[in-house]
Amino acid sequence: MCHTFVNDSRLYKALFRIDQEIALEVQSAGCSYCGGVLHRAGYPRKPRGIRSALDASYKTRLSFCCATEGCRRRTTPPSVRFLGRKVYLGIVIILVTATQHGLSDKRRKQLIERLDLYPQTLSRWRKWWREHFPSSRCWQAEQGNYIPPIDTGQLPGALLGRLKGQDLRHRLCLLLRLVAPISSPSWSGFIRVIIDPQKM
Ligand SMILES: [Zn+2]
Repeated sequence: MCHTFVNDSRLYKALFRIDQEIALEVQSAGCSYCGGVLHRAGYPRKPRGIRSALDASYKTRLSFCCATEGCRRRTTPPSVRFLGRKVYLGIVIILVTATQHGLSDKRRKQLIERLDLYPQTLSRWRKWWREHFPSSRCWQAEQGNYIPPIDTGQLPGALLGRLKGQDLRHRLCLLLRLVAPISSPSWSGFIRVIIDPQKM
């Protein structure tokens, strides 16, 4: 069987709470164009992953709309659940593409089988880590924090292995927070939310 935490609804609830905290911070800062009040205007999503572990909160990506007449612009906060527009959850994408420091080879293959992923999907995601992610603003800002530098050809595993968490679940959450700005290209703030391993 897969690592128990992959099926553990508590983990997904904890990720939702982190998304809520990030969203609250973004909302309290107001519209970045006009300073107007932000109203909730979530996007419907149908994420793929371990469906049995996901509650109704996963049907919505938290997002806001400016309340000011004439502006009405959308602000979508970074998310530790959704990785950009990808239909699979961020945690799934990390777990199946991290060939080091993540799940064991056997468990990773079991997860790939269970999710019925096409080899093309996997190679597209690996390519995304190696080619798209290293040139992202998020990684450009982050990469200098690692000495020696992270080998981008070994992402995301190499990065997962450098994060200081108690266990894989904790390190995964830290990595999800690190890559969360990817999911919100128009946003340029700093994510302050603390990842508390006791609540994961
Ligand atoms: Zn506005």
